[in-house]
Amino acid sequence: MKQTVEPVLQDKFERRFLYLRLSITDVCNFKCNYCLPDGYRPNGTKNSSFLQLDEIQRVVSAFAHCGTNKVRITGGEPSLRKDFTEIIASVAQTQGIEKVATTTNGYRMAEHVAQWRDAGLTHINVSVDSLDANQFNAITGQDRFKQVMSGIDRAFEVGFKQVKVNTVLMKDLNDYSLPQFLDWIKHRPIQLRFIELMQTGEMDDLFARHHVSGVSIRNRLIAQGWLLKSRQANDGPAQVYYHPDYLGEIGLIMPYEKGFCTSCNRLRVSAMGKLHLCLFGEGGLDLRHLLTNDDDQPALIEFIQQQLETKKVSHFLDQGNSGATPHLASIGG
Ligand code: SAM
Ligand code: SF4
Repeated sequence: MKQTVEPVLQDKFERRFLYLRLSITDVCNFKCNYCLPDGYRPNGTKNSSFLQLDEIQRVVSAFAHCGTNKVRITGGEPSLRKDFTEIIASVAQTQGIEKVATTTNGYRMAEHVAQWRDAGLTHINVSVDSLDANQFNAITGQDRFKQVMSGIDRAFEVGFKQVKVNTVLMKDLNDYSLPQFLDWIKHRPIQLRFIELMQTGEMDDLFARHHVSGVSIRNRLIAQGWLLKSRQANDGPAQVYYHPDYLGEIGLIMPYEKGFCTSCNRLRVSAMGKLHLCLFGEGGLDLRHLLTNDDDQPALIEFIQQQLETKKVSHFLDQGNSGATPHLASIGG
């Protein structure tokens, strides 16, 4: 009997790609100093030009057909889309997709997270750069600290067993708050992930002023008895630490560390329907013309597979290359 071989997404360095990060909008209502310090500027893009639900379904089912089992819905701020819950449901119903995650600034969580969960959301990441309301406001340009905290409480109430929190580590803005962050996660099942500040194309001298390596946090954790968790296959790039006295965990995402790209397992599709082989690659490869019809799936898969052959071994960020990405809201961080 003839056996059909399922297509796979693999590059020439034998990295398999089982994780899709899908941006559904580049619009955002926050003004994070490291991302959109002047707020969102439309750039001539109409909201109606973002991937529509049927196109999203085609992207996700093509990836799922190639073995992708996890999709993260991101942005911009994904929860700004009116059809966000429908998008979650559609991704969750795709055969082969086991994990549906989102990354959000959290401002709509308190109100909507129950409905997201009912629609099939399995994992949630919320960005919280400071536990001090004033400092939170200063970094994000939004006086919404309490709202975001209520959103996290609500996520636990509606049944999420763990919430991941993303904190962009910045010298003199939050690196001194490690004790406060540790207190916060002592009795909460939160995995707090310090992400090293990454330089992007439109960033001014913020990087020079505030970049600090995650090594400083790592050394402080180890000195306090925190232990490195062993990695599972398909884990992302975070180094995760645990401590017997804490319910929460600390993750460190250090893109400037040697070997960071070795475990790369993700591909990105932007809200404009472009495939990005790397967060810091060049412009993106248009998929839109292959998303108009379900019958295009074989051609779409073939195109992605061909492009994967060109994926580079590393982002070369450590050599000062920030690629063509103006800010992470543009392609989904
Ligand atoms: N708006 C959502 C949010 O903020 O969670 C999702 C999109 S945001 C681009 C995704 C993640 O990228 C956030 O956790 C944010 O803190 C992080 N991020 C954005 N710009 C960054 C930068 N220059 N360096 C490191 N992390 C960054
Ligand atoms: Fe918006 Fe997220 Fe960028 Fe902050 S990091 S400006 S919340 S897209």
